Amino acid sequence: MEVEAILAALIPSWSSVILLIFYLGYLAVAGFILPGKVVPGAILSDGTRLHYRCNGLVSLLMLLALLGTGVYMKWISSTVIADKGVELLSTTFIFSLFVCLVLYAAGLKSCSQCSSLKPHVTGNFIHDWWFGVQLNPHFMGIDLKFFFVRAGMMGWLLINLSLLAKSYQTGTANLSVILYHLFCALYITDYFFYEEFMTSTWDIIAERLGFMLVFGDLVFIPFTFSIQGWWLLKNKVELPKVAAVANCLTFIIGYRVFRGANKQKHVFKKNPKAHIWGKQPVVIGGKLLASGYWGIARHCNYLGDLLLALSFSLPCGASSVIPYFYPIYLLILLIWRERRDEARCSQKYKEVWAEYCKLVPWRILPFVY
Ligand code: NDP
Repeated sequence: MEVEAILAALIPSWSSVILLIFYLGYLAVAGFILPGKVVPGAILSDGTRLHYRCNGLVSLLMLLALLGTGVYMKWISSTVIADKGVELLSTTFIFSLFVCLVLYAAGLKSCSQCSSLKPHVTGNFIHDWWFGVQLNPHFMGIDLKFFFVRAGMMGWLLINLSLLAKSYQTGTANLSVILYHLFCALYITDYFFYEEFMTSTWDIIAERLGFMLVFGDLVFIPFTFSIQGWWLLKNKVELPKVAAVANCLTFIIGYRVFRGANKQKHVFKKNPKAHIWGKQPVVIGGKLLASGYWGIARHCNYLGDLLLALSFSLPCGASSVIPYFYPIYLLILLIWRERRDEARCSQKYKEVWAEYCKLVPWRILPFVY
């Protein structure tokens, strides 16, 4: 694309605004009417807890069926997102700026004293706008934090599907393209299959809803996690068989560690006596799990996620660093997050946390970090 064409595409078009409205509107309605398990969230500091309807998978399948029908009937083009990538990016970015200003203003006006809506204002506009003012703001009964992360993850898959269609249209589809799209599709579908696990993650339980999360969910996740797909449209990679096998193994091992660790913690929080790897779990101070993956490193789930991120980039070969944006970003983010989580846990669990650190000294990767 020429520089002038890119600059022109940065101005949102009506068609990209309509696409975004339809997409978010669909998610709002589907989230409201479709059936799904209602999962209680973490207990907040005032003793209350939110409830989340985990119908992301059924919403996704229904959306794919609707879009598939639309493409089959030639009402929409399967490459519409790939064709309007930059326009959609700028539209979503402007929308997230707008949402954050509204959230900031609504947060300042809130007089609520409940944990999910109580305003946290430092007086520093940049800080408050970036980190957010309220923990769990909602709009028309929709929990916005849960909603935006769902929109971002699903958006990533929609972008990828459109890029895949474009690859077939332009004749660039090959093993690399298929592996990248297959791994991401499995990861995202799995995310929605286990959507209830999201309710006990740091973002949901500890992070307030400000620009960092809104931009991260709506813009960063879908548009930067798909960089490999965009890159493969322009760059042909012939992956040797042995590299493809190593790539598949990285994905499988990453998935097992990532999902296994997150599942073990989730199961433990529900039932601290549940067996881990067929044995009675080691529990510290009645609160912290030190068995299974949680006995190998204090954030083995981050290790699994990093391996998965690497497996999404390996199909692009080693000729450029651009497709490695996601694993590099994730490495920085997870090291930073691990430090923040560590500080939070050490404050919350005090000597119990210190005992856990003694028993499990590795943070993410045993014998290295
Ligand atoms: P965790 O799921 O690891 O949650 C951390 C919390 O778990 C702690 O604050 C503590 O909360 C609890 N906890 C920690 N250790 C133990 C233990 N030993 N036993 C019991 N409870 C424990 O972190 P995240 O929410 O950051 O990450 C969730 C997943 O999301 C990860 O797999 C991560 O890789 C992924 N992720 C992906 C990102 C991406 O961009 N792809 C970005 C961020 C995360 P409590 O107070 O409840 O005990």
